[in-house]
Amino acid sequence: MGLDWTTIDRFVFGEAWTHSFIKSHAEILCERIGPRWATSDNELAAATFIREQFIQDGLDNPVFEDFNLPTWSHKQTLGTLVEVNKAIDLLPFNRCPACKLTAPIVNVEYGTENTLREKKNEIKGAIAIMYVGFEPFSQPIPLSDRLYKLAQLGVAAIVCIDPKDGDRIEYRNAGDWRLPEQAEAPVPCVSTSREHGSILIKSSDKLFKIVVEASFYKAKTQNVDAQLTGHAWPNTQLILGGHHDTVLNSSGGNDNASGTIAVLETARVLAALRSELGISPGCTIRFATFSAEEQRLAGAGEYAKQHCNPENNTRLVINLDELSTGYFKGVVLAFPHLRTLIQSQLDSMGDGLRCHVMSQLDSTSDHFPFLRQGIDAAHLWRWRFHGRNADSNYHHEPADTLDKINVRELKEYVGQLSRLLLRLSHIHPKDWPTNPQTSNTVKSRLINERGSVIRVY
Ligand SMILES: [Zn+2]
Repeated sequence: MGLDWTTIDRFVFGEAWTHSFIKSHAEILCERIGPRWATSDNELAAATFIREQFIQDGLDNPVFEDFNLPTWSHKQTLGTLVEVNKAIDLLPFNRCPACKLTAPIVNVEYGTENTLREKKNEIKGAIAIMYVGFEPFSQPIPLSDRLYKLAQLGVAAIVCIDPKDGDRIEYRNAGDWRLPEQAEAPVPCVSTSREHGSILIKSSDKLFKIVVEASFYKAKTQNVDAQLTGHAWPNTQLILGGHHDTVLNSSGGNDNASGTIAVLETARVLAALRSELGISPGCTIRFATFSAEEQRLAGAGEYAKQHCNPENNTRLVINLDELSTGYFKGVVLAFPHLRTLIQSQLDSMGDGLRCHVMSQLDSTSDHFPFLRQGIDAAHLWRWRFHGRNADSNYHHEPADTLDKINVRELKEYVGQLSRLLLRLSHIHPKDWPTNPQTSNTVKSRLINERGSVIRVY
C-alpha cells in the first residue's frame, strides 16, 4: 500500500494524546448525564451526545438504531429481621420479580453440592443466604447454576452476600447468557452487603421479610453507529464497539464510560487522519456504542443481527468494556484462526502487545452475540495475570464514578487501537483466514462448557 507508518503513528499518538477529549467526555457522561439505564431519558441523552460527536468528528453516516427492549425497574426493596425488627440493606438482582414474603433463614454458605445435600430439608420454603464468592476448596460453580439448583430445591428467595466490604452492594444477574433456559431469576434474588450478610448468617432459622417492588415493561432504546468507509474494500468491515448503558443508579465510570469514550476517541483520531493527512482505512471501520449490555447484551445482539451478514463480511469485532481495570497488554480472541495475522500487526507496532486465544467462549460482555454467529469478537487484555488496577473492583454500583476512569491509560488505548485498526483495515480481504468454527460449532462448545466458570481478563 506504500503507507508511511512512521508519519501515521506519529499523527495518531499526537492526536490521541495532546488533543484528547477523554476528560470532558467523562464529565459529560458520568456527571452531566449520570446513570444510563437502557430505555431511560439519560441513556437517550448519552446516545444523542455520542451521535453528535460522530457528526462533529466527520464520520460517515452517524445514526441511531432503535429497537424495543423488554426492560425492568424497581422501587423499594426492604429486608427486615422480623423478631428483632432490624432493617437489612438489600438490592434486587437485575430483573428480580416483585415479591413480598416472610420465611425462615437457611445459611447455604457457598451453595456447593455438599452443603445443599446437607441442608436439603431446611431449604424448601426458606430464604437462603449464600456467599457470591467461590468456596475455596472445591471446583468453582457459576452463580447462576447455584441459584437454579436452590430454586429446584424449593427455596422461596435467595439473599446473596456481596464479597466487597464497606457496605457496598452491586447489581448482579441471575442468568447465564450461554444458556437460554437460564436467562431469568428462577426465584426472587437480592443482594446484601458483606456487613449485613454477617448479621443474616448469625440469624439462621429466624424469620426474614423481603419486599421487592419491581415491574417489567417494554420501551424503546437505541444503539449508535457510524463509520469510516473503506477506500479499497468498502463492503468488508471491522467493528469497534462498547456499551454506553449502565446499571441503575451507577454513573458507570469504569463500566462503561471508559469503553464508550475509547470508541469515540478512536473514531475521532482516525477521522482526523483522513481529513488532515488524507489517509483512509482500506476496508470500512464501523464504530458502535451499544445499548443494554447490562440487560442481557440486548443491544449488541440487535447490532449483530442487523450488521453482520455475509454481504458485509465482518472480519473482526473489538469490544471495549471496563478499560479502567488495567493498562493495555493486548487482544484476546475467541477463535484461533486470526491469531497469527493479528499478532503480526501487533509486532509491527513494536510495543510488545500480545494476541491470545481464550479457551472458553466468554458470555460476560457484548462480544458474545457476535461469537454466537461465528464472528470473532475480541476483548482487550487488561489485567489478568498482572497489571490489575485497584479500580477494577468498581462496576455495577454507585461508587463506579468519574474518578474511576484512568485518563492517561485511556489515551494509550486510543492510540494503540487506532494503529491496530488502521493496519488491519489495510490487509486485503482475501488474506483474512476464514473461521472454520461456525455458529453450530459454537452451539456444541456451549453445551460442553456448561457449568464452567468463565475466566475473565
Ligand atoms: Zn460493562
